[in-house]
Amino acid sequence: MESLTFGPLSTLPSLVEELNPHKVAFLTNMTVERLWLKKAFSGIENPIKIVIPDGEEYKSLETTMAIWKRLQEEGFTRKSLLIGLGGGVVTDIAGFVASTYMRGTLLGLVPTTLLAQVDAAIGGKTGVNFNGKNMIGTFYLPNFVLIAHETLSTLPDEEIRNGLGEVAKYALLDKKIYALIRNFKGIDEAIIRECALFKAEVVEKDPEERGLRRILNLGHTTGHAIEKLSNYRIKHGLAVSMGLMVASKVGEELYGFDSGKTEELLEKLGLPTKHPFGADEILREMALDKKAWYGKIVFVAPVEIGDVVVEEVAEEVLKRALEATSYDSGSGDSQKPEGSA
Ligand code: NAD
Ligand code: MG
Repeated sequence: MESLTFGPLSTLPSLVEELNPHKVAFLTNMTVERLWLKKAFSGIENPIKIVIPDGEEYKSLETTMAIWKRLQEEGFTRKSLLIGLGGGVVTDIAGFVASTYMRGTLLGLVPTTLLAQVDAAIGGKTGVNFNGKNMIGTFYLPNFVLIAHETLSTLPDEEIRNGLGEVAKYALLDKKIYALIRNFKGIDEAIIRECALFKAEVVEKDPEERGLRRILNLGHTTGHAIEKLSNYRIKHGLAVSMGLMVASKVGEELYGFDSGKTEELLEKLGLPTKHPFGADEILREMALDKKAWYGKIVFVAPVEIGDVVVEEVAEEVLKRALEATSYDSGSGDSQKPEGSA
């Protein structure tokens, strides 16, 4: 399985030494540089520092080219190690650069957001945006991933919440994680470890997303549509949370899943259970989603906690689920979620 290490940042030098790299370069962004780079550098010999601006808009080919150029100037080779230190934007670019520069260099990832620790840094998908999200990319497993819990101490609450959307997804996919979340008091190392290991296991069984890996799209088909309709004002994790509720209603109608369990779970995590859109606008957006393969809407829905089905779902079923989870359908709630359109 993919090599995941759970430990403090001070573990980094020993992970680097094991690879015996010719050179070591760190890729990070301006925010993470200020907070964590000094600590990450400690014990590493002559590290090269590459800092990009903070923001999804910099996950681009322009940024990639600037990094390739720097690596060339620094005499970086295939035996050199690129370490991506940051959130999913940085780990995605680091992976893409490492997989393409001279046909592949050594790669280490040190994810510093909750989302990257449980999701983006795991599984070997790399990429940049190009006329659409993640349109250009590769599959490239890192030589190591260091999950250092301490880095989350500086992460804003909003970003923690964003990561919790994926944590909620794992809780529906895995009984063990569900049990951990039922006593949720705050994000801790045990939850992060189980989520990261769960994803790594799924990916190991299906590295190129031919089948099983698609279960990780639970909540995402509608989640993506909701994100887009909100012009990305609703963050990914919150959109996924809303999507999980929709998927749960579909599961309820088709397989007798108890959607009350999802509602309870999301409330425990402080995540939204309703979306602010009409069923028809979401359906239209979903049809455009790249996961709507061959014109069919392939959908992941829970049968019970720890068990999902991936199959084509009839539009009427989806429509009922979207209506039941829309704010306007009303179950007495009066407030729309923050950040919603
Ligand atoms: P991000 O990388 O933009 O990080 C969010 C914000 O947190 C940024 O402003 C960042 O500078 C800041 N930050 C990072 N670490 C911090 C820390 N320790 N303390 C304070 N601030 C910190 O966003 P993200 O949510 O981590 O990742 C989203 C990206 O991940 C998207 O581009 C998405 O496509 C990608 N992604 C990839 C995969 C994959 O499998 N490759 C999976 C999921 C998401
Ligand atoms: Mg996601």
